[in-house]
Amino acid sequence: MKSKTISILIPSYNEEKNILPLYEEIDKEVRKNSDKYDFEYVFVDDGSKDDTIKILEEISKKNSKVKVIELSRNFGKEVALTAGIQSVDSDALIIMDADLQHPPSLISVFIEKWEAGYEIVATQRLEINNRSFIKKIGSKLFHKLINAMSETKMVSGSNDFRLLDRVVVEELKKFTERNRLVRGLIDWMGFKKIYIEFTAPDRLHGEAVYTLQKLFELAINSLTSFSLFPLKLTGYLGVFISTTFGFLFIWMLTDKYILEQNTFSSLSFVIVANTFFVGVMLAALGLVALYIG
Ligand code: UDP
Ligand code: MG
Repeated sequence: MKSKTISILIPSYNEEKNILPLYEEIDKEVRKNSDKYDFEYVFVDDGSKDDTIKILEEISKKNSKVKVIELSRNFGKEVALTAGIQSVDSDALIIMDADLQHPPSLISVFIEKWEAGYEIVATQRLEINNRSFIKKIGSKLFHKLINAMSETKMVSGSNDFRLLDRVVVEELKKFTERNRLVRGLIDWMGFKKIYIEFTAPDRLHGEAVYTLQKLFELAINSLTSFSLFPLKLTGYLGVFISTTFGFLFIWMLTDKYILEQNTFSSLSFVIVANTFFVGVMLAALGLVALYIG
């Protein structure tokens, strides 16, 4: 009987020191399961400036199961992942980081859950040693915000270390978003899913390249692409402003022409009318949000 195929996708940026130890760790897991499954490795070199690509090519010469995709420049992890996802055609796909922060020992657990019928085996990172205070707080805040604002719920500590069944990968290939958060799209899709907890060790070698600024940009991207809430909020604000100032304006007209008092100066008429129209414009923006949605 033909065995099932599993691809392991690893986005790599300046990981020259980590590739070999990672490959050896994964290889141990692969061997444990090789009687039942055919494994392939898909390394995406995301425009590394060090010798990552050389090392990858050496490995792929020795092992025909190692595929290497070389991007023309550094595009960031999300694009690297996308390139890899488009290239696979196997029964399951495992995504993991190149720095050994995603323990290969979980591969067997992934497979077990997958065989039990889960289409997505995701992970929840319990605690990261050596993660800066600001990154920890930032990550918490991001998950709080996105869960409050959008219909897609994301678990805190959720990350890209996952197994996806073929059905999920095929759906994922259809997305055309440019600024994307792959794990966000996966969470949005649904499917039968389970979370496994793990503790991430420190990066084996090198520095995490996700600077605070990059993480912030990613967070903003995710918030705007997963939620229309900011635009809708503008709309609500507009409706609030235009109704209160509309009523105020009517009251001022009544005061002047019906009660014939002169409580309000002509300047205040201008200001109130003006604010009313600002409110109308904001409300129109909110309407745009409904159309986009
Ligand atoms: N990565 C990538 N392109 C980039 C930045 C990172 O492919 O522009 C890869 C990197 O090689 C690693 C994974 O994405 O395999 C996670 O990166 P990192 O360890 O820097 O981030 P963190 O552990 O803080 O999430
Ligand atoms: Mg890392």
